[in-house]
Amino acid sequence: MTQHTQELRKLIAQELPNLDVVLAWTHGHNSLTSTPLFITTQEDLEKLDSGPMHVQNLAAYLPSLKGRKVGIVTRGCDSRTIIELLQEKLIERKNITIFGISCSGAVNIRAVRRAVNGESVRSVQADGDSITVTTNHGTHTLRMQDVLMDKCYTCTNQTPIIHDHMVIAQTADHVPGDAPQTTLDALDSMEPGERFAFWEEHMDRCIRCYACRNACPLCVCKDSCVAQSRDPHWLDQSDTPREKLMFQAIHALHSAGRCTECGECERACPMGIPVLAMKQALNRRIKHLFDYQAGMDAQSTPPLFMFRQQEENIKERDAR
Ligand code: SF4
Ligand code: SF4
Ligand code: SF4
Repeated sequence: MTQHTQELRKLIAQELPNLDVVLAWTHGHNSLTSTPLFITTQEDLEKLDSGPMHVQNLAAYLPSLKGRKVGIVTRGCDSRTIIELLQEKLIERKNITIFGISCSGAVNIRAVRRAVNGESVRSVQADGDSITVTTNHGTHTLRMQDVLMDKCYTCTNQTPIIHDHMVIAQTADHVPGDAPQTTLDALDSMEPGERFAFWEEHMDRCIRCYACRNACPLCVCKDSCVAQSRDPHWLDQSDTPREKLMFQAIHALHSAGRCTECGECERACPMGIPVLAMKQALNRRIKHLFDYQAGMDAQSTPPLFMFRQQEENIKERDAR
């Protein structure tokens, strides 16, 4: 157990009697995976673990726990989700205790599996700049820089923006070299026709499981989601890229200016479809039009939550 994790356990143990539950991580079914941990007792606390293999954005559970006293282990990117949920009044600050951790990046499990050629993983050891993966066929040492989640290469908030307690275990300079090309970079270099073909090809693989929606902390329509609604009837059940792309387009528009680019939608997709890029492209547009980034300031109002007679960067009157 790292000193980081020990310190985190100590802090949570002190606060636990005042809380209904603390959201944290533990090991998954093997050492390449992690799973959310709901801590209510000291015995639960002993299962807590943290580090680059623990990837879920735990803030996704907060809206369903509204009204209860909840503690949450939070990295920089997750703190942006918490701020966005506060801005939208989906949670109450007085009920949330934030255990902040400085972060040196989260591992992209798919990238690790690719790097070890799909061999069956026995154990994983993350150690600063590298990660050692033992498989049935031998040992692979991978550079951390090559197997991070896309969002980590452009992360500017490795330390949580808000927190009540803070564990500082590393200085967190996680990308010592050049970041690889992201999907958004690749899309930028395509002509519109190529871009459409890209999405058609990916959407053809979509199995309409809606894991992307279910994992999204800001997907809050619940039973009224357009994917289920028959009135209005936005989507039909046909297994075509067009219908599937329609759902993704709606999700992206619903999260425009709200999406903190936590990447949970993409991480959860069992088909490896790079759905995050769609949201990033819209966020870029929001930044250009409103000079706004989601989840940075709990006191501000998201741009699509308010109305102004004339926006500085939207000249609709000139277009008439
Ligand atoms: S985006 Fe930043 S805070 Fe989030 S996991 Fe990556 S490096 Fe850590
Ligand atoms: S749309 Fe994706 S990246 Fe954006 S908040 Fe939801 S899960 Fe996170
Ligand atoms: S998680 Fe992936 S496969 Fe499932 S609906 Fe979303 S894009 Fe389609």
